Amino acid sequence: PVGMDPPWLTGLNPEQRQAVTITEGPLLVLSGAGTGKTRVLTTRLTHIIASRLAQPWRVLAVTFTNRAAREMRERVSGLIGPAADAVWLGTFHALALRMLRKHADKVGLQSGFSILDSDDQNRVLKALMEEAGVDVKKWPVVMVMGVIQRWKDRGWTPDQVPGQETGGEIAGGRLLELYRAYQARLLALNACDFGDLLLHVLVILRDHVEVLAAYQDQFRYILVDEYQDTNTAQYLWLRLLARGHRNICCVGDDDQSIYSWRGAEVGNILRFEHDFPGAQVVRLERNYRSTPTILGAASALIRNNTGRLGKDLRAAGATEDGDPIRVYGVWDGPAEARHVVEQMESLHRRGERLASMAVLVRAGFQTREFEERLITTGTPYRMVGGLRFYERQEIRDAMAYLRLIEQPADDLAFERIINLPKRGLGDAALQTIHLSSRALGCPLLQAARSVLETDELKPKPRAALRGFVEAIDEWAALREQMDPSELAATVLDGSGYLEMWKKDKSPEAPGRVENLQEFIRGLEDYDSLMDFLEHVSLVMENDSKAESGDAVTLMTLHAAKGLEFDTVFLPGWEEEVFPNRRALDEGGVSALEEERRLAYVGLTRARKRVFITHASQRRIFRDWVMCVPSRFIGEVPEEFKEEDSDVGLMGGGRGQREPWSSWDGAGADSGWGQRKQAFREKEGLTWQVAARDSAGGFSVGDRVFHQKFGHGRVCAVDGNKLEVDFDKAGRKKVIDSFVSAEP
Ligand code: ATP
Ligand code: MG
Repeated sequence: PVGMDPPWLTGLNPEQRQAVTITEGPLLVLSGAGTGKTRVLTTRLTHIIASRLAQPWRVLAVTFTNRAAREMRERVSGLIGPAADAVWLGTFHALALRMLRKHADKVGLQSGFSILDSDDQNRVLKALMEEAGVDVKKWPVVMVMGVIQRWKDRGWTPDQVPGQETGGEIAGGRLLELYRAYQARLLALNACDFGDLLLHVLVILRDHVEVLAAYQDQFRYILVDEYQDTNTAQYLWLRLLARGHRNICCVGDDDQSIYSWRGAEVGNILRFEHDFPGAQVVRLERNYRSTPTILGAASALIRNNTGRLGKDLRAAGATEDGDPIRVYGVWDGPAEARHVVEQMESLHRRGERLASMAVLVRAGFQTREFEERLITTGTPYRMVGGLRFYERQEIRDAMAYLRLIEQPADDLAFERIINLPKRGLGDAALQTIHLSSRALGCPLLQAARSVLETDELKPKPRAALRGFVEAIDEWAALREQMDPSELAATVLDGSGYLEMWKKDKSPEAPGRVENLQEFIRGLEDYDSLMDFLEHVSLVMENDSKAESGDAVTLMTLHAAKGLEFDTVFLPGWEEEVFPNRRALDEGGVSALEEERRLAYVGLTRARKRVFITHASQRRIFRDWVMCVPSRFIGEVPEEFKEEDSDVGLMGGGRGQREPWSSWDGAGADSGWGQRKQAFREKEGLTWQVAARDSAGGFSVGDRVFHQKFGHGRVCAVDGNKLEVDFDKAGRKKVIDSFVSAEP
């Protein structure tokens, strides 16, 4: 009888209740987005512990991210208190690591072993490839590493790689040999990589029956979230552990399988029923998250995929259809960012919290325009699962080139790029430049010039250094003739930096190339390099403030899995962007289906509203490219969407007739000077602009005021850079335009 129910079961629908209370035997919960799978899993965990079916340490629960693990632990703690702490709850990696720490000796590691990051991994492998005489130009290290990783994802030690899978001619037919050598080398270093965490544990469980038996006995209950994205090694690990009590419950949704590029195998869902005969399957069909309109749209879209396990969603309890999906056509990228942020502000004025809104992008480079718009309007935002645009490695590198060109004394920039891409200026050469800089008391670039006049360097590095210094000079001279964007394109091209990433075979390299292209595009808004560099300082400054409190979320669709928001913005729904051309080039038909699942994930993150936008053109480098709305928009039936566009009103004017924001009244002219002025006025920085325009320069001894560091006295002037002894903050280098004369 319902009245007797324990409190955690109240509110569950009958199928959910089944999924929670059928605790014995294998159970698969296969259901669409927002049907309460994660909620079922959390409740099941609570139910098992609170009903004393098992002690907390006898339950193993796997989540897809550390954040999800934290959230689940918090929820369970809230219901059952500190007992929740003892549950084995975490990601596959975290849980495997815990086991490996305990049994490290069984695979030849000592318990204090270290875990290598991908840079270290590649360095180790590269050394081995060179030793073995494999041509690393022909067979890039990162590509060979990719193959090794996929082998590990499949649970294959060097001895287990099947004969037909050994990679043929790759790396001169020596892939397997390299894999073996790599594993041996890691052991000698008392280290392992991420893939090894599971692989080593699998080996231990296979070779040591007593260890396996102990874990099989310990874990009376096993729970797994986001099951559709497990890879084979993870699956094998689960299968071994679950053989003891066979109480394993996996929840997942084949329509949300979006990690096949990382080795995930949706076929694991089908294997489950085969490997666990007698498994019960529960289907949840009521969606508690989204409006009927959003569900209708998402279901219709995903029906275009073939080979689905097939299920439909209906809204739970909702009587109203809810708002239509708003599909909005804009002129270009900046117009898109303006439109989205305007919608956000309008919702915010109507009482919606910023934290209830998210922008979900297909690719990382798409965030820049939104970040800048949010900063301009002063809307707090949070980047989840990735770095803010200007913090990304390749953007910092590109910035370092521009900084050195603009300010030859910028030693940090010099050090960052002197040997990037590699031009044979090793530690010895750098050492010489440093010594000379110290002796002469001058910046590194200048010291490099004087080193060139000496014989300190061997001919090769000397030639390389000469080439570098001359290139910097050449670019500095071009500053007068080229606008910043053109200059950046020239520099990134001429330096070989862009080429370096284009040739790189690592999975993140194409994203970095896209970011660099976006970087060049973004520079078009600036009249001078100086303007741009100042802008970035302001952006970075503003960024650190936006971390906490009510803020909108910016993230990729991949990172959004499992999350929900009242309002979701889905920008860039154009062919080539989404579905992503690169993904299609690499993966064919199955890749298109994975893109569609990603679209399904995006739509189903929304509780109340979805805004889809698409631009009629985008700038790629210096060219305008016409864009076609994504086929996914067409796959959402008319009855669920409302299409509109502001492109018709534009008269071909690059979107300039649209007031670019309501608060600054800048109207038709949205040149950056005016925008920056408006930004500063909004930020209370008007006086800084005034100070810069009138003062023109400071001299040693002047009393000045800086907004961040307070009052101080100028002790050195170097072009537009000042060194100031601040009364409170001590000696700092500042840009003169950030400083005002003390009255
Ligand atoms: P996804 O596939 O996106 O991971 P999910 O199936 O894991 O989704 P949950 O996140 O568990 O779904 O639940 C979606 C939303 O519905 C949550 O806000 C959850 O609290 C709510 N919900 C789930 N079940 C119920 C219920 N029985 N009554 C009320 N709300 C519910
Ligand atoms: Mg979930």
